[in-house]
Amino acid sequence: MLITNLSKTILRRGGIKFFKDDFLNQVIRTMSANSDSIKSADRLEGHKLSVWNEFIQLATDHKPVNLGQGFPDYPAPSHVTKALVDVQNDENILLQQYTRGFGHPRLVKALSKLYSMLIERPVDPNNHVLVTVGAYEALYCSIMAWVNPGDEVIIIEPFFDCYKPMVELAGGKPVFIPLRPPTNTSYVISSGDWKLDMTELEHKFSNKTKMIIVNTPHNPLGKVFTREELTQIADLCKKYNVIALMDEVYEWIIFNGKQHVRMASFPDMWDRTITVGSAGKTFSLTGWKIGWAYGSEKMIRPLQLIHQNSIYVCATPLQEAIARGFETEIANYGTNKSYWKELSDDLQEKRDEMVQVLTAANMNPTIPEGGYFLLADFSELANRVNYSSITDGTKDYRFTKWLIIEKKLQGIPPSVFYSEDHQKLVENFIRFCFFKKPETLAKAGEIIKKL
Ligand code: PMP
Ligand code: GLN
Repeated sequence: MLITNLSKTILRRGGIKFFKDDFLNQVIRTMSANSDSIKSADRLEGHKLSVWNEFIQLATDHKPVNLGQGFPDYPAPSHVTKALVDVQNDENILLQQYTRGFGHPRLVKALSKLYSMLIERPVDPNNHVLVTVGAYEALYCSIMAWVNPGDEVIIIEPFFDCYKPMVELAGGKPVFIPLRPPTNTSYVISSGDWKLDMTELEHKFSNKTKMIIVNTPHNPLGKVFTREELTQIADLCKKYNVIALMDEVYEWIIFNGKQHVRMASFPDMWDRTITVGSAGKTFSLTGWKIGWAYGSEKMIRPLQLIHQNSIYVCATPLQEAIARGFETEIANYGTNKSYWKELSDDLQEKRDEMVQVLTAANMNPTIPEGGYFLLADFSELANRVNYSSITDGTKDYRFTKWLIIEKKLQGIPPSVFYSEDHQKLVENFIRFCFFKKPETLAKAGEIIKKL
């Protein structure tokens, strides 16, 4: 402030000899302007800190047993982590430099080989695949590249929380439809029992609908959409000329022999489907943040245009190591050496253990068919515990925060996966991640039992 006033005086007194009045006034006005009047872009209006930023801070502050954010607290598969060490010692020094912008050649080749086999059609490594910074960037590019202001995007609730703000950033309008659990059941329900009402879904489609986002296997429910459900969604996409954005990041985590069905393989869907995957989920190394989108050239080219001027290229050594990981997995596919088989078997055991502990504590879980999360209904327990020390937010948010702060067990309140109008539907639920080592699950079990 002192310097500004001093400068103004100098400019008025001495500067006048050298500069015209208009110019001096302009300089003085600029110096006097208050930066408080500079506002962030209008497109951010209404956007808040995401649940992840808030709840990671709670974990840092209160050090709970952490069944919150989705990641394993034990080592990632060694054939992939070791591949990265090998890459760092590789005599090919170019592996430390920029690589091809739309995806490192060895990685897009591996992805093309894998998905060509899985969806039984040729996936061209150069034109049908884009490698991104995690599935987040693949979702972001898909939405930015295809959604115009005013376009409607159908989002199935519960939904992975970034879908809504991404659609809004593009100027689109999210249109929500909830999956509903059966009511008044006497049996333990599975995520497959949470269903879409297909008539209600058709009513959400209109001539403004541009896209529907489907997440299978599902976070947070663990629902694995059946072929029949996906066929009905595909038929609506064709009838109303809509794109299917398929978030399939948990494609390798499926229980009890259920099958993950890929929309991209359906008749006449290739040209209107974008499928998103994640190395973080595929190889259990969420910190590497490599993902991808695949689809027809028509679908993927616009995503490449967004990517080239925002990210341009993902980290070369990580892409090379993931490519080597895929090569091993493709060779082991369908055998007992497959990491993906081991992953599903291991997580199925953890799921069963978690379900047992929660059921014994009257926190009725919905049994997931895939993924590494589950929802538990705490309404019976809520009558016996006092969580009134937390007063802000929805019921599930208050309960979850109380559990973290007072009982040192972290979950995630699932209302963050709903639009405001539908948050009541999950006010009695909490999400837990069971991708944790046995000691962590045992500690969580002790806390839950004591509740
Ligand atoms: N989609 C879903 C359903 C997720 O759970 C996540 C969580 N990581 C992502 C996308 C983002 O994945 P990534 O970490 O690869 O960006
Ligand atoms: N997908 C993970 C989860 O649902 C992590 C999300 C995140 O940290 N942004 O827990």
